Amino acid sequence: MNRTILLLPGDGIGPEVVREAHRVLNWADAKYELNLYFAEANLGGVAIDRDGAAYPEATRELASEADGILLGAVGGPKWDGLPAADRPERGLLAIRSDLDLFCNLRPAMLFSDLATASSLRSELVSGLDVLIVRELAGGIYFGEPRGISVRADGVREGINTDRYSEGEIRRIGRMAFEAARKRGGRLCSVDKANILEVTMLWREVMESLSVEFSDVNLSHMYVDNAAMQLVREPKQFDVIVTSNLFGDILSDIAAMLTGSIGMLPSASLNADSCGLYEPVHGSAPDIAGVDKANPLATILSAAMLLRFSLGAANAADDIERAVSTVLAWGMRTGDIASGMPGERVLGTAAMGDAVMAALQE
Ligand code: NAD
Repeated sequence: MNRTILLLPGDGIGPEVVREAHRVLNWADAKYELNLYFAEANLGGVAIDRDGAAYPEATRELASEADGILLGAVGGPKWDGLPAADRPERGLLAIRSDLDLFCNLRPAMLFSDLATASSLRSELVSGLDVLIVRELAGGIYFGEPRGISVRADGVREGINTDRYSEGEIRRIGRMAFEAARKRGGRLCSVDKANILEVTMLWREVMESLSVEFSDVNLSHMYVDNAAMQLVREPKQFDVIVTSNLFGDILSDIAAMLTGSIGMLPSASLNADSCGLYEPVHGSAPDIAGVDKANPLATILSAAMLLRFSLGAANAADDIERAVSTVLAWGMRTGDIASGMPGERVLGTAAMGDAVMAALQE
């Protein structure tokens, strides 16, 4: 049976990095006989230009049938003047909500050859491997009531609402426990249960789930302490699960521990494990079209797609190992080069060639 991978190259450096990840997926398909079928569609600025909408109907149809989706990035200065509701980024929000992608997985892994690129001392981060599971479809970014209004006394006020139902907490909790079970067996739930009722419920539901996952060690941490611990002793964490707002902030802190945005993959999954996989970085208009973009975050996103949506863990392991190998060979794109002896600075396509060579070793 064919399995369909939808490629959404998007804008800026998106097409360049997706091209390299596509080669790697083709390699995995041939080696492990995965029967992959690739489709391609427009999302973001390119979709506005060609189809008149950031998330066109044709893309929606292909996305609804795909087993996994690989996105480059969307957005750029060309579309910055459009009203907020018509901008490329709306296409991304629309596809996430259309597919009900409520579970965001953001691994922060530091390949040992890049330990000096981190903002922390290398002994604190060398070998770092943390997975942040962020709730993506609820919480304060979506809660009602919201808005800016004028009170009866004439004073303007802004309001947002942090709201989670028990069911919403349970479904993200379950994904996080399952992820922890497949890794080091430790799950830290991050909340602010000393002050916010919404996270008191969050903590209660996590506790109740832990009965079902007795092989996973559950702990709790307040978000302010978690932010501190991530920069003090990040290797203490295995899997972190948290709400939309806290996850947004903590995952960016964890990202910086690894030194470069060009190395970070992500996945957003729904209950059927169909997912949208994308690098954490944006469309980098400053380096688009000049063969300077680091394709490794997108290649690692393709590895996540194989692992989480296609159950092809062996292929994912091979790809992650190949990335580690090219770094050990001293291959670097400009963003991760440190000027150390033995490094060779490559462009996007040559870095893709190096990963293909490492896969064929
Ligand atoms: P960005 O991530 O695109 O770029 C930030 C900096 O990192 C730039 O200097 C860029 O050159 C560098 N960089 C990013 N990816 C790189 C890579 N793979 N290799 C080497 N260097 C890389 O963030 P930004 O400049 O704030 O945003 C640019 C555009 O991207 C905006 O239109 C923004 O809305 C959009 N954006 C899209 C997404 C997405 O599609 N998920 C995410 C963030 C930003």
